[in-house]
Amino acid sequence: MDWHQIFAGRNDRMKASEIRELLKLLDQPDIISFAGGIPDPDLFPAEAFQEAFTQALTAENQATALQYSVSEGYAPLRDWIVGEMARLDIPCTRDNIMITSGSQQALDYLGKLLLNAGDTALVGWPTYLGALGAFNAYEPRYDRLDPETNRSAADYAEAAGEGQVKFAYMSVDFANPTGRTLDAQMRERVIDLADELDIAVIEDAAYQSLRFEGEALAPVLAREIARKGSIDACRTIYCGSFSKTLAPGLRVGWVCASKEVIGQLVLLKQAADLHSSTINQMAIATVAQNQFDTHVAKIKEAYRARRDSMLAALEKHMPDSVRWTRPEGGMFIWLDLPAQLNSADLLAQSLKSERVAFVPGHAFFADGTGTNTMRLSFSKMDEALIDEGIERLGRLIAAAL
Ligand code: PMP
Repeated sequence: MDWHQIFAGRNDRMKASEIRELLKLLDQPDIISFAGGIPDPDLFPAEAFQEAFTQALTAENQATALQYSVSEGYAPLRDWIVGEMARLDIPCTRDNIMITSGSQQALDYLGKLLLNAGDTALVGWPTYLGALGAFNAYEPRYDRLDPETNRSAADYAEAAGEGQVKFAYMSVDFANPTGRTLDAQMRERVIDLADELDIAVIEDAAYQSLRFEGEALAPVLAREIARKGSIDACRTIYCGSFSKTLAPGLRVGWVCASKEVIGQLVLLKQAADLHSSTINQMAIATVAQNQFDTHVAKIKEAYRARRDSMLAALEKHMPDSVRWTRPEGGMFIWLDLPAQLNSADLLAQSLKSERVAFVPGHAFFADGTGTNTMRLSFSKMDEALIDEGIERLGRLIAAAL
């Protein structure tokens, strides 16, 4: 059967990237991998989850834990999140929160909610690869969100052609892939631009809690509420996640936005999967209530040490012509290599001769540019191996130059 002729046209945009295929080969134990960008499993609060799941399965709780539940999400978890949002200067109520199966699901739903085929999504250049993947199914065009330039709203609107500009998407703190944080002025400018264009802002806060140093910056949503008085008057849609703080395998994230947006997202969720796993939401609620801050403080210490090791190793081993970011948190450092180097070719060589893995940067650009960039993750590698891996990578890059 020729499946292709009955697959819907939107599948044409859903290609497995060559890199993803390449990274599947990384299971071999001798590879030093800076590719993953995933939490260190040794830091999972496994014991706390064991207790939380046991508690959820007692005679008293099992009827809730194992049952269908509402699409909005488990109320005690939403209430805990309301408290968390208040700490970020985002006053809201339970009705402003919907639980999703990871923030990845929120990105899919937001694509579904906002994009007609041919509409424009404004994204970073580079941006989170998984956001491009989620939005691609809804067949958008992409344009470069660049608040640092004085590009006018009219210019963005004109570039959208027949379609409409619908939203600006940003990974705001210690972004995936660059590790950069959008500064206060740029956050304000994005709100100005969105107001002028009359579009939504999707604030991806997946790494928000993982700040190792420096002042926390008020989220875009907090700034918009300060201007407009109430979350229900705001165009910013905040996407949070427990994946980087507690555990990604439970697939629990949330959206915080105006009641109107949440109401429509709830309808999409009802239609898509009814609700996120009840027992997982209960377990996350218990662990968050008991030890969110202490646990996050602990993992930040570990990640900070690894970031420091990677920065020191880059300083020591990289040729002078290589530039990199100095993230204040998160999991990633971004390298800019001299323009003549191609990081996808380097990866192929590196896997063969140096046994070091990373993600070539072009995957994160909606137009496939950035071939001389790469993303390194420091989250999962032990400090001695970080130095060893960066030394090998530095040697490879120096030879290629
Ligand atoms: N946003 C960003 C910026 C991410 O890096 C990730 C995970 N890599 C996600 C969203 C999705 O994470 P999750 O679905 O586990 O919440």
